[in-house]
Amino acid sequence: MEANIVVLGTESVGKSALTVRLLTRRFIGEYGDIESIYSHSFIADGREITLNIWDSPYSEDSCVETSLFQKKVRWADSFVLVYSICDRASFNSVSRLIQAIKSTKDYLEADKPPIVIVGNKRDLHHRRTVLSEEGRLLALNTDCHFYEVSAAENYHSVLMVFHGLVDRMKDAKLTT
Ligand code: GDP
Ligand code: MG
Repeated sequence: MEANIVVLGTESVGKSALTVRLLTRRFIGEYGDIESIYSHSFIADGREITLNIWDSPYSEDSCVETSLFQKKVRWADSFVLVYSICDRASFNSVSRLIQAIKSTKDYLEADKPPIVIVGNKRDLHHRRTVLSEEGRLLALNTDCHFYEVSAAENYHSVLMVFHGLVDRMKDAKLTT
């Protein structure tokens, strides 16, 4: 199975940290600002899975009208929308992104690819401004899935996000 995942969210929420953590198991701390599609393969339930993960440096929220955004929605088999639990504005941006994705023609035609909302930087709980409940509620109201993770301190939590997505894409029979 091969699947395309687009990672979106405002600046500095940890989009690259999450992606690199999945790929290398490491948290490096500093990430360049390059538009890249990474490929990552692993075996799950005896089958090889290849994920193509599109990570970009833009603050997507302001780009939802652009053709690049439309292109990503067309390309995606699923979406990872990231915010930081210490950054209220980034959480608000996720709501807008969900609306923007769901209102594109490509999203509807593609059989509604799964969307996962990820609250990152869980290790910074002393600086938390977005409650877990708020993330969970947003997911419930928008028919998305929700995780809180720490790219910095918890590799397993990052793995759960991407492996969970693979299960959902299988369920949705989007890919074979
Ligand atoms: P992006 O702009 O969304 O790609 O964000 P980056 O992945 O470049 O991360 C932005 C900053 O947040 C960097 O300094 C990272 O080291 C830091 N960061 C990312 N994830 C975490 C996390 O889970 N916990 C903490 N404490 N810092 C993080
Ligand atoms: Mg980045």
